[in-house]
Amino acid sequence: MRDRDAGPAAASERPPPRAGRRAPRQPDLRADVAAAPAIADPAATPVTALPGVGPTLAAKLQRLGLLSLQDLWFHLPLRYEDRTRITPIGALRPREPAQVEGRIEAVERGFRYRPQLRVAISDDSRQTLLLRFFHFNAAQANQFVVGARLRCYGDVRLGTHGPEMIHPHYRLLGDAAAAPVEDRLTPVYPATEGLGQARLAGLIARALERLPADEALELIPAELRRVYKLTSLRAALLYVHRPPPGADVARLASGTHPAQQRLAFEELLAQHLSLKRLRARLRRDAAPALRGDGALRRRFLAALPFAPTRAQLRVAAEIARDLARPVPMLRLVQGDVGSGKTVVAALAALLAVEAGEQVAVMAPTELLAEQHCRNFQRWLQPLGVEVVWLAGKLTGRARAAALARLAQPAPAVAIGTHALMQEGVTFARLGLVVIDEQHRFGVHQRLMLRDKGRTASAAAGHDTDAAARLPHQLVLTATPIPRTLAMAAYADLDVSVIDELPPGRTPVTTVAIANSRRGEVIERIRAACAAGRQAYWVCTRIEESDTLQAQAAEAVHAELAAALPELRIGLVHGRLKPAAKQAAMAAFAHGETHLLVATTVIEVGVDVPNASLMVIENAERLGLAQLHQLRGRVGRGGAASSCVLLYQPPLSATARQRLDVLRETADGFRIAEKDLELRGPGEVLGTRQTGALALRIADLARDGALLPAVQRAGATMLRAHPALSERLIARWIGAAARYADA
Ligand code: ADP
Ligand code: MG
Repeated sequence: MRDRDAGPAAASERPPPRAGRRAPRQPDLRADVAAAPAIADPAATPVTALPGVGPTLAAKLQRLGLLSLQDLWFHLPLRYEDRTRITPIGALRPREPAQVEGRIEAVERGFRYRPQLRVAISDDSRQTLLLRFFHFNAAQANQFVVGARLRCYGDVRLGTHGPEMIHPHYRLLGDAAAAPVEDRLTPVYPATEGLGQARLAGLIARALERLPADEALELIPAELRRVYKLTSLRAALLYVHRPPPGADVARLASGTHPAQQRLAFEELLAQHLSLKRLRARLRRDAAPALRGDGALRRRFLAALPFAPTRAQLRVAAEIARDLARPVPMLRLVQGDVGSGKTVVAALAALLAVEAGEQVAVMAPTELLAEQHCRNFQRWLQPLGVEVVWLAGKLTGRARAAALARLAQPAPAVAIGTHALMQEGVTFARLGLVVIDEQHRFGVHQRLMLRDKGRTASAAAGHDTDAAARLPHQLVLTATPIPRTLAMAAYADLDVSVIDELPPGRTPVTTVAIANSRRGEVIERIRAACAAGRQAYWVCTRIEESDTLQAQAAEAVHAELAAALPELRIGLVHGRLKPAAKQAAMAAFAHGETHLLVATTVIEVGVDVPNASLMVIENAERLGLAQLHQLRGRVGRGGAASSCVLLYQPPLSATARQRLDVLRETADGFRIAEKDLELRGPGEVLGTRQTGALALRIADLARDGALLPAVQRAGATMLRAHPALSERLIARWIGAAARYADA
């Protein structure tokens, strides 16, 4: 494709009429084109150019990230209110919003717990609707006079005496003449303290008056719009801000209207481009090309009690290929629970050690870090590879010794939690970083790590261009990520999939049992342990607090100890001292305890192959991914394993669905798709990642089907239209994208 950006006069790149801006000649990703636009460009015109917007209002707008007219154009409605109709009070339905008109029958000011204003209105349907206000001033209260006509909009709920609205929007209609209803849907915008809907809508309307003509607004070149059947952006914007009378309410409400889909495509494209740009930036730096002779890896594999699966070998080869190149690897390894990601990580670590480098292995919890440490010590120390334990809680002398060791430019594998990467740890020769259970980390953590490697090698100064030498990064996910989400959230990474479980695994039988049959479940434990197996009992509580969770686990521990006196029962929860936790885990791993009562601290990664029974209490409260993770603790050995989802009836519809999904499939990838469907991307990725994926109009669960086209369009944009790509990112992501510039 012709490089359009090299020709500023190309149709798609034509600057807006009054803009003196020229696209840069070089497709240079570093150029922050959007940061220095010509003032005359309406897209970049500051909000203060609008009449009535002074510094105070501008500051409020800034809180919403709204700096320019373009920001206002792209401040899209969260949802719509339908004020085009008046619903008779008699036809109101609970939990649905409605607009009602009626005459005030009674007004009552009361005080029960807190001040309250109650206004009863009735209409021709002869029914009464109660309006309740908890925040009001005297002037407001005095407006409500018996006999006056009132129109209000709000969510209907069923009170003790009939339908109610709490804090509805309302308007007194004054005289008897009919007031017209709205002729179009009312958009509801993300707002902020001191800047309400009406004001915001007014500003957006004024900004929209300055919306440029079609071609000047488009940042996606015409030929791409043709290929991907993208309609006019201008029309789409005007439609979603001001849906015309008779607009398809249902489609708008569900976000599937073509205008919304047009915008969703563009937003996903901007998101994708921003991640690709990040990736390109990371890869501009140099990394050591690691080519080991394979000696350590061969000895390691020969000593393993099993043969690696084909999938493990394939992924290890993909990693080796990346490591051999002088650019930083950024590879995500996805594999279902129990697919053997640790072995793959060990192979990568050995390759780096063969090449004379240091390796950092990070886990999200102390418990997991300890487990990795034990595995790596067992596997690597016999090969003469030094394994350095770097826990957050490591004390004075031990810590100093570990740090001193890593400051020496000799190969070693350091293992720890995030603390590993925090202040005071300097690697003399960090060649590879392995991050386990990635979905708990976000893009920011990845960047932080990258910078860690940069500082480390700069300090050591063993490279001519030391500052540019970065470690390779290998990321392991605990839970499969739905394809759509992986594409959207991890476009900055290459992905390898371990799509095979080690042989000899017996599928885990999963049953859902009501808590009233707890006694039977306890008998199952007795039987399993009598047969030489081990079991987990996981206690969950809805409270986040460690203390309450710990109390619950202690109570269950006592209950089970009383019911199963012949068993040795361990206990692990977040309030235990690390040494106590470690001791309890070790006792269970060595078969010294039969049953382990635990909180969800054991959720990820814990590996005790002899355990064949998993009981999860209050399973109805957990998400699918978490349940799948927990279940993955069993079925790791040869014995037939089972998982009991103990629930507290009655089950809600979605809880029932979740438990059903789990009973029906053990495929982590399918479960992940379901999870996305049921909970949405924010939950699936974890809160940390959500910030980077705060989408305005696109919804990954709903719009995932757009992603393949978005990726193809993105590749073309980056190759042929880098300047437009930059502007698209600035338009949709704006300030949020700036982390990538750091
Ligand atoms: P995960 O992918 O969930 O992190 P692990 O790396 O903890 O899985 O591996 C799970 C278990 O399977 C461990 O006990 C590990 O030793 C074992 N394992 C790994 N690879 C194989 C294999 N190829 N054959 C048999 N067992 C394996
Ligand atoms: Mg693991």
